Amino acid sequence: MLKTRGVWCGSHEAGKDQRSVANYVERMHAAGFNAIFVHLKGGDGRLYWPSKTKPEAVAPGYESFDLPAALLQECRKRSMQMHAWLIDFFEGENGAAYRQHPEWAMLDPRGRPTNHETLRGSRFTGLWMCPARRPGYTDQWLIPLLKEFAEMYDVDSIHHDYVRYPGDLAPDQYCFCDDCLDQIPIFNGCYSKTFPTEPFYHESYDREYLEAHWEQSPRVLPANWNLLDRASRSRFLLEGSFFQGGRNDLDYFFYNYRKYWITQFTRECAEAVRAVRPNIQISAAVFKNPVHSGRFIGQDWREFAPYVDIAVPMDYRDHFPGDFDTYLALLAETIQSQQRWAADFKSLLIGCAINFLFFEEERPLNAIRGSLKQGDPAAANVHFAQISDRLQAEDPSAHAAISRCIQSGSPLELENDSVAKSFWPKEKLLRVIETVAAQNSAGIVLFCEDHLHKYGLWDAVTDAFAQHRD
Ligand SMILES: [Zn+2]
Repeated sequence: MLKTRGVWCGSHEAGKDQRSVANYVERMHAAGFNAIFVHLKGGDGRLYWPSKTKPEAVAPGYESFDLPAALLQECRKRSMQMHAWLIDFFEGENGAAYRQHPEWAMLDPRGRPTNHETLRGSRFTGLWMCPARRPGYTDQWLIPLLKEFAEMYDVDSIHHDYVRYPGDLAPDQYCFCDDCLDQIPIFNGCYSKTFPTEPFYHESYDREYLEAHWEQSPRVLPANWNLLDRASRSRFLLEGSFFQGGRNDLDYFFYNYRKYWITQFTRECAEAVRAVRPNIQISAAVFKNPVHSGRFIGQDWREFAPYVDIAVPMDYRDHFPGDFDTYLALLAETIQSQQRWAADFKSLLIGCAINFLFFEEERPLNAIRGSLKQGDPAAANVHFAQISDRLQAEDPSAHAAISRCIQSGSPLELENDSVAKSFWPKEKLLRVIETVAAQNSAGIVLFCEDHLHKYGLWDAVTDAFAQHRD
């Protein structure tokens, strides 16, 4: 039985008065959800509560309307849990933190912040902030905000998201800010502070493996370290070797440094928020495999256990390869692994995304539109064949509209949102919920409330949850 039935939901969608908030919460309650994870600190750096700590970051209109208080009131009336979904290290380039402190941003080996990157062909506008720098974003901005939130609101949990380094772009390129360039060698014991230039060569290299002589802690940094520029230092820290002439193993230390600072942040956050509200829980949206995410994004969430109570791995379909049935099989297998990885947490809730379930329906629609735009109706027809039968059955007029466009070679004006909702197979969502429940999961969290509207799934989710209610 899925005891916790949660959903991530937006802030704007709740409206800005008690009545609209009541309707918003009631809709989710009526569908059988008993936990909401509400977006209250955005990826653009905006806050959706009347913060006194950082009033300059409050989203317009939310200085006067206290959204979390209104939500909390409606949740409590209905015995629902309310979790505060707060984005950690991802800020907007127009966010107040970055505007006031550009030096807090993560930098790549050439000294550039993340908004110079290109992600899937578009300029990346997000600003990732350095988790390691002290004083910096973590201790001067983020933790004071989380603490203030916990002081102001008696929510069920502070919900971490983006508690990591950027991995969907350039996983090995951050952070080489001035502070990290200084701190990585110190953190990893790459030289002695007492004898900073002493190489500490071994008195005799008396064993076959050079690396067998590690224990006396030789100086790792090259003798010309102080003359090297940022790019060369960064390259050494990522690609160099512990021993001159040894294996290129320094990346191990680089990844450990990143993991340490992410876990350290969860620790500092837990200390700050539990000091002001001892019974508050902390939850975190994490990637599906902590062994892999430890390497690629500094997020080995197994280590969060003392500082996070509820692990919510995002087992979204786009994080798995293959077709829908492959996804379900891998999802079941992954949940079993996650139950072991999360053994030290109080609770494990499985996060599933709704939108990615409909690749088989959505991708052909998008491809038809793209092919017609490029003046290739023959290609559009090939994509159409993949969905033609289902569309004919569920939305004959949309089917006819696409047929006409392909015949005449004209662009397709029909948007995915205008297709009849029954075109999106609700069985997919039901099978995901069944798969999660079949692994004896304590609960599920769906991403997101808006997608239930978009794909017309309110009735489906209500039916699916009916058997899981107390
Ligand atoms: Zn840094």
